[in-house]
Amino acid sequence: MRTVDTLIVGASLAAAAAAKRLVDAGLETVILERQELPRHKICSGILSPRGHRFLLENFGPLPREALHEPTSCKGVTFHFPCMVPLPMDFFGGTTPHLHRKYSDYWAIRRSGAEVHDRTSFASLEDRGDHVLVTARRQGRDLQYRARHVIGADGPSSLVTRAVYPDYPKRIPWFFVGQKFHDIIECPLDEQYFHFWFHPQLGHYTWSHARDGQQIVGCGFKRGDNFGERHRGVRRYLEDKHGVLLKDETSDEGCAENFGPSLIDRYVFGQGNVLITGQASGFLNMIGEGMSCALHSGAISGEAVVEARLRNRPVQEMYRRMIASEVRRTTDQWNPLMIAFAKPHEADFPAALMKLSWRERKLVAKDIWNFLLLYREFKWGRQIGALALQRLFTGGYPMQRWL
Ligand SMILES: Cc1cc2nc3c(=O)[nH]c(=O)nc-3n(C[C@H](O)[C@H](O)[C@H](O)COP(=O)(O)OP(=O)(O)OC[C@H]3O[C@@H](n4cnc5c(N)ncnc54)[C@H](O)[C@@H]3O)c2cc1C
Repeated sequence: MRTVDTLIVGASLAAAAAAKRLVDAGLETVILERQELPRHKICSGILSPRGHRFLLENFGPLPREALHEPTSCKGVTFHFPCMVPLPMDFFGGTTPHLHRKYSDYWAIRRSGAEVHDRTSFASLEDRGDHVLVTARRQGRDLQYRARHVIGADGPSSLVTRAVYPDYPKRIPWFFVGQKFHDIIECPLDEQYFHFWFHPQLGHYTWSHARDGQQIVGCGFKRGDNFGERHRGVRRYLEDKHGVLLKDETSDEGCAENFGPSLIDRYVFGQGNVLITGQASGFLNMIGEGMSCALHSGAISGEAVVEARLRNRPVQEMYRRMIASEVRRTTDQWNPLMIAFAKPHEADFPAALMKLSWRERKLVAKDIWNFLLLYREFKWGRQIGALALQRLFTGGYPMQRWL
């Protein structure tokens, strides 16, 4: 059995940030990763300016191999059924287009933690003063004993399930899939990430350039047919935007826990087990999850350091410290903040104001029709109530967190 101060599950960005804080504080830290490193991660790789700053400040400048072509992204363009495009540049200039396989590996190595790859977390037992973890490596069971465990294992987190077995039944699940196409003709500006607010296309529809190909992606409630959905989007892009693509050369998809950050239903763990990153439910507008994974991961690491220093329960520390990241993330979905503050990293209200009154009306109508697609999840009232609470108390209620 290996004994360590902290065991982190998952070798991604949240893990790298957590590990950096722990290693810097002198704590022996081991990261378990089920895949072989460097590992593939499905992601568009558009890092927000805040995420970029975090990487620079904590790990230094990105190496060239950690970037896709085009190496940077100027911003996001929203598209609507009314065909009024809404391009928005990121505040502070372009951001890097990350190649997750290499950027994550680079950040993990720079954290200084010891990594055990091809090692899957299987189960845990919190014994009060330590946690016993069972993992599997090439068919063999391995035991770890840690003072604290951090689950940074992404949306389908097994660490979350180990702590809250019925959690997956409590939230709606989505599927997101993308196909890679060689390009015949593509008028979409390759300097932007393109997103469609179009209810007929699905809950989440996007396209962008990568390494000489065009990615066409769509997201929908789990159970729908990816092939059919994708064909519909491809036809639409051809008819409405003149995007001519060859048949896909490859495709991929995964389950996503979209929703908890909209309605302040985060999951942060229990006892000596912390959950962080997307496993907690952190996801910004347009599915940007890297910046909040980095920041929440760092906070989970800091909470462990603080808890040891002050001899306090780690959950108490973590929940107090993570409230700032909850505010930042949930503000992005808060209609009052969207209207009167600037919770996003590109200026949506300014882009809207550049349109004529007629165009603004068309766009507002299309956004409303798109939001109706989400009516079945009954998030609207909760978002409204949370917006008022934020206004009067300055934050979001912790009682809603698991
Ligand atoms: C199609 C798509 C496009 C996206 N595009 C963007 C984008 O452009 N910009 C952006 O900011 N975000 C984007 N995101 C979201 C972003 O990828 C995630 O929010 C972010 O990677 C979350 O980071 P994380 O560190 O919390 O977890 P993850 O990146 O999900 O990493 C979890 C890690 O844990 C490992 N793991 C899982 N289970 C176990 C286990 N049992 N044992 C050991 N290891 C395990 C996994 O292999 C993985 O390495 C996109 C997501 C998808 C699906």
